Amino acid sequence: MLFDTHCHPYLSEKQSEKEVLESIKNSSFPNLILCVGTKIETSQKCKETSKNYDFAFASVGIHPCETLEYVWQEKERINELEIMLQNDKKIVAIGECWLDYYRLPPLIESKFEKQKIIDIQKTFFRLQIQLAHKYNLPLIIHNREAKEDILKILQEENFKNFVFHCYTEDREYAKKLLDFSPQCMISFSGILTFKNALWIQETAKYIPLKNILIETDSPYLSPAPERGTENHPQKVKFVLDKIKELRNENNELIEETIYQNSLDFFCLSH
Ligand SMILES: [Zn+2]
Repeated sequence: MLFDTHCHPYLSEKQSEKEVLESIKNSSFPNLILCVGTKIETSQKCKETSKNYDFAFASVGIHPCETLEYVWQEKERINELEIMLQNDKKIVAIGECWLDYYRLPPLIESKFEKQKIIDIQKTFFRLQIQLAHKYNLPLIIHNREAKEDILKILQEENFKNFVFHCYTEDREYAKKLLDFSPQCMISFSGILTFKNALWIQETAKYIPLKNILIETDSPYLSPAPERGTENHPQKVKFVLDKIKELRNENNELIEETIYQNSLDFFCLSH
């Protein structure tokens, strides 16, 4: 049983969104997917997908790289997310949100200074924490070169119900996250299968199995041995295979536990 806990079928370039979803439907593989929103329009798309396909769930959120589009409309935009998620049982998370300092340099050429851009990102993620709090939903965290600030703000807000998606930090940082929130999740993507990702592999080897989720972040980050091609939710199996190879545990136990972790974390009763 496999659950791709983070994908963006609407961003596929090689196939239409419908083709991606139909091929999952026809093969019943992976068993479940979570379509993740990055701004108002894509959150709405994910909501619709989850309505049209039994195997699909949705998250609504505003990605840090989209926040500049919404400056001075923070409250209105968060309200739109709130309206979307009300009375919709298939919206099971908020995100992806939080901080991305990696993609700041090109934005410096925009009308905003670097510090202002960071402040805007921070405002949006604090508002999304509050939304997650209010509806008791988990938060999907996106991090690029902002790990210290993220942990600091999580601690300040005392918010513990989160998944660190597409994990690329080391074992030591995972320990800090788990010390702060023993119930948090660390989600591995295709990057785990890359030959030079040794520090990520070490993390996947040693953290408790009960804290592990898997994802594709498709259409990006296609795992080995299909690196360089467009990614697809079905390739989540390569991420699982890598975890099985790394960990000294029974393969079935690994697969079942990770699947169950996903159901529990997103409060699904499948
Ligand atoms: Zn993503």
